[in-house]
Amino acid sequence: MIDFEKIKLKVNDKEVTIGAVLESKGSTEKTKTGAWRSKRPVIDYEKCVGCGICWSLCPEGAIKKRPDGKFEINLDYCKGCGICANECPKKSITMIIEEK
Ligand code: SF4
Ligand code: SF4
Repeated sequence: MIDFEKIKLKVNDKEVTIGAVLESKGSTEKTKTGAWRSKRPVIDYEKCVGCGICWSLCPEGAIKKRPDGKFEINLDYCKGCGICANECPKKSITMIIEEK
């Protein structure tokens, strides 16, 4: 078996491993993909209309509905891909550089 931990790439000055292999079902909650992130999404709740498009497209399932009908992002699982920001019809999500 390939040891992916030993294969490193540099992406935006961050060292990342190649690919992502989940070896058993139901293990995604143990894989906190937030550590991969070089940018983070920030929601402007003045613009957000609660349409849920960000929630439906997030590949990490990192976006959850709040009791007020709007959506929030769990940064433990957000990998910073920017899909939510690109697809938000109200342009209410901005990707900002991750601070260390
Ligand atoms: S896609 Fe944009 S407007 Fe729709 S819920 Fe997400 S942040 Fe709000
Ligand atoms: S940046 Fe990517 S992983 Fe993070 S919340 Fe948006 S769609 Fe999900």
